[in-house]
Amino acid sequence: MTDIRTVGVVGAGQMGSGIAHVCALGGYDVLLNDVALERVEAGLDIVRRNLARQVAKGAIDQAAMDAALKRIRPAPAGDDLRDADLVIEAATEDEETKKAIFRSLTPYLKPSALLASNTSSISITRLAASTDRPGKFLGLHFMNPVPLMKLVEIIRGIATDAGTYETAVAFAQSLGKTTANAEDFPAFIVNRVLIPMINEAIFTLYEGVGTVEAIDTAMRLGANHPMGPLELADFIGLDTVLSIMNVLYDGLSDSKYRPCPLLVKYVEAGWLGRKAGRGFYDYRGEKPVPTR
Ligand code: NAD
Repeated sequence: MTDIRTVGVVGAGQMGSGIAHVCALGGYDVLLNDVALERVEAGLDIVRRNLARQVAKGAIDQAAMDAALKRIRPAPAGDDLRDADLVIEAATEDEETKKAIFRSLTPYLKPSALLASNTSSISITRLAASTDRPGKFLGLHFMNPVPLMKLVEIIRGIATDAGTYETAVAFAQSLGKTTANAEDFPAFIVNRVLIPMINEAIFTLYEGVGTVEAIDTAMRLGANHPMGPLELADFIGLDTVLSIMNVLYDGLSDSKYRPCPLLVKYVEAGWLGRKAGRGFYDYRGEKPVPTR
């Protein structure tokens, strides 16, 4: 097994900042990368806010927060990741973006460094094949919000070696997470089930079966889901939901995975959910207001 001490995180958005947060709290040194230093700093602000929230709730103490923040270093250049034992890519859900990241990054990495993608849906085997180390590549799929959600799905590509897999399982467990194995088929387990349900909720809105409020209330109280599917879509990011539907549609060649045209329209409008201030709800006021 590889000894992991330093974790590189590429992409400092909602997921990357969450992954940096749990790794730093777990005692790992973290190198946080994004396209520009300002993005890394925005990610660090998210980590700071979420750690402070945990302190306020009594989940961790101030000393643990301070120590965690000290362990995270901005790493805006590829070369800054040279000490990483494991790099977790959590950039935008787009295959070409991810492949370009691996191409530009791997020349800087130690030959022993493991590479993981937090992709929600893209083939691990295909991503691995675009790198210089398919045996040391796998999927480490954290859930959102990372500090609160217990699960990490672990996905082996066809070439992932046993040592890499065992190291990844031990690493995820060291963060207090529970792992579930998923085979490398489009969207793995959680999103194979969850995202088509969200897409179907958007179809029920599109066809006028219910309003945003009715659909979310119905699923919260009728199916005992903690969040309604449209609220959840906004939380995940509508661009991410759409790209997962496209991966399912293309990868399984089945029309049942057709993305709802209304989802496409929201993404075209740039109404991407919470992170954009607007999606199925408008978040710019004091409380969220349905946009339909
Ligand atoms: P996000 O839009 O919040 O963040 C993506 C970040 O990647 C941005 O900060 C962007 O600047 C950065 N980025 C883009 N290109 C880059 C590059 N070339 N180099 C470095 N950084 C780059 O997205 P997110 O929700 O954090 O999703 C990130 C990944 O995690 C995606 O693969 C997504 O499918 C996956 N994921 C998302 C969720 C979720 O609920 N949002 C859950 C599990 C997994």
